[in-house]
Amino acid sequence: MTDYDYDLFVIGGGSGGVRAARIAATHGARVGIAEEYRYGGTCVIRGCVPKKLFVYASKFSEEFEDAEGFGWTVGERTFSWEKLVAAKDQEITRLEGLYRRNLERSNVELHDSRAVLEDAHTVRLLSTGQSFTAKYILIAVGASPNVDRDLPGNEHVITSNEAFHLDHLPEKIVVAGGGYIAVEFAGIFNGLGVDTTLIYRGGEILRGFDTDLRTTVREEMEKKGIRVVLNDAFEKIEKQEDGSLVGRTKGGETLAAGQIMFAIGRNPHSNDLGLEKAGVETDGIGAIKVGPDSRTNVESIYAVGDVTNRANLTPVAIREGHAFADTVFGDKPWQVDHSLIATAVFSQPEMGTVGLTQEEALERTSNLDIYKASFRPMKHTLSGRDEKMLMKMIVDADTDKVLGVHVVGPDAGELAQILGVTLQMGATKADFDRTIAVHPTAAEELVTMREPTERLRG
Ligand SMILES: Cc1cc2nc3c(=O)[nH]c(=O)nc-3n(C[C@H](O)[C@H](O)[C@H](O)COP(=O)(O)OP(=O)(O)OC[C@H]3O[C@@H](n4cnc5c(N)ncnc54)[C@H](O)[C@@H]3O)c2cc1C
Repeated sequence: MTDYDYDLFVIGGGSGGVRAARIAATHGARVGIAEEYRYGGTCVIRGCVPKKLFVYASKFSEEFEDAEGFGWTVGERTFSWEKLVAAKDQEITRLEGLYRRNLERSNVELHDSRAVLEDAHTVRLLSTGQSFTAKYILIAVGASPNVDRDLPGNEHVITSNEAFHLDHLPEKIVVAGGGYIAVEFAGIFNGLGVDTTLIYRGGEILRGFDTDLRTTVREEMEKKGIRVVLNDAFEKIEKQEDGSLVGRTKGGETLAAGQIMFAIGRNPHSNDLGLEKAGVETDGIGAIKVGPDSRTNVESIYAVGDVTNRANLTPVAIREGHAFADTVFGDKPWQVDHSLIATAVFSQPEMGTVGLTQEEALERTSNLDIYKASFRPMKHTLSGRDEKMLMKMIVDADTDKVLGVHVVGPDAGELAQILGVTLQMGATKADFDRTIAVHPTAAEELVTMREPTERLRG
C-alpha cells in the first residue's frame, strides 16, 4: 500500500469517521482524517450529547414541583440559560479534546479542513489546496438539518444547530416537525419555561414508532402544557419590527413566537463533495448508495453513517465504521445487522423501543398477542402528577417469540438497551414470564403481564 500518501483517508470526523479511522490505524493502516468543523461530529457537538444535557436541565422544573409531594418545600427557583449553555459548551469542548487526542494517540493524522473528492483515490483540502492520495477513502460526512427551501421567510427560522447557542431563551417558541428531534426540543423548551407549540403536518407525531406510544407521548406532552398542532404546516413566516416572528399556517392559524425552530428532517451532507468526479452514486435525496459492507459503486470508496441514510443513529454509524475498518484493514470481515436496533426518544416522558411495532408485526404474521399495561408510576402516587407509563409487548402467538417491546415512561431509554439484548437473543414470552421481578420497579411490569390485552388472529 505504499504508492499512496495514506492507506485510508476519512472525510468527516464524526461518530462513524472517527471510529473507522482509529480502528483502521490500530490494524496498522496509515490514516488521515479531515474535519471541517469540530471533531466528534453531530452527536457530540450539536446532537445527542448537548441535547441530553438540555433534557436533564429541563426536567428540573417538574422535579421541583414533584418534591413538594414528598415533604420538601422548594424555595424560589430561577434558571439561567446562559449558565446552562456555558456549562454545556465546556463539556462539549472537553469531549472534542478527547476525540482529537484519541485520534492522535492512534497515529491518525488530523486535517482541520473541509475535504472534497478529486477522483477515486484523491482528496483535496479546501483550507490549503493540498491533495492527498489514498488507497481507500471513507466518506463519513453525516447529514444536515433540512429547512423547507420553498417556505417564504425560512431565513428567519433556526434549526437544532442554532438552538444549542441561542443568545437568550424566547418567551414563546414554535417547533415545526414531528420526528424525535422536534419532539425532544419541544420538551426541552417547555421544561425550561418557554411557551411551546409543536406543529406537524402529519396526523400524529413520531411516525415510524408504535401507534400506542405515539399517542401516549403526545397526550403526555399536551398535559405538560405543550400545544400540539397536527395536520398543519407553515405557509409563510414574517419578521416583525420588534424582531419577533409570526408564522401563518396552511390551516389558517397565526402563530407568534420569539423563535421558530425547524426540525423537519435531515439531508445527507453530500453536496459539493466531488462525488461526481469520483463517480460515486447517490439516491434521490443525496444519500450515498452502499452495499451491506458499506462499499459504494466505486471500489476504493466506502461510506458510513448518516450520509448513507440507513439508520441515522450514532451507535449505527460507529458500528458501520468499525465493521468497515475490520473488514478492509483487519482481515476480519463482518457486516452490521440493521434489523434490530434498540432506540430511545428523549421526549418527556421518555420512550424506549426495540423490535417491531404492532403495525410492522402484523405485516409479518396475523397471529399476535399484545400485552399492554398503562399505569401511574409509583413516584407519582405522592407527587400527584398525572402522568402515565405505558409498556407494550408484541408476541408472535404461534412461536411465543417476542417481536417488539415498547415503553413510555421514566428511564425507558435505559430499559430499551437491555430489552435489546433479550430480543437479540430471541427471547420468548415464556422467558419473560419465568424471570423473577425486581421489586418495586416499573420494569417488573414487563415480567408480570400474564394475559394478553388483545389476541389478534388472521
Ligand atoms: C439534535 C440531534 C439529536 C440527536 N440525538 C441522537 C440520539 O439521542 N441518539 C442517537 O443515536 N443519535 C442522535 N442523533 C443522530 C446522530 O447525531 C447521528 O446519527 C450521528 O452523528 C451520525 O454520525 P456520522 O458519523 O454519520 O456523521 P456526523 O456525526 O454528523 O459527522 C460528520 C462530520 O463530518 C464533517 N464534515 C461534513 N462534510 C465534510 C467535508 N466535506 N470535509 C470534512 N468534514 C466534513 C461534519 O462537520 C461532521 O463533523 C441526533 C442528531 C441531532 C441533529
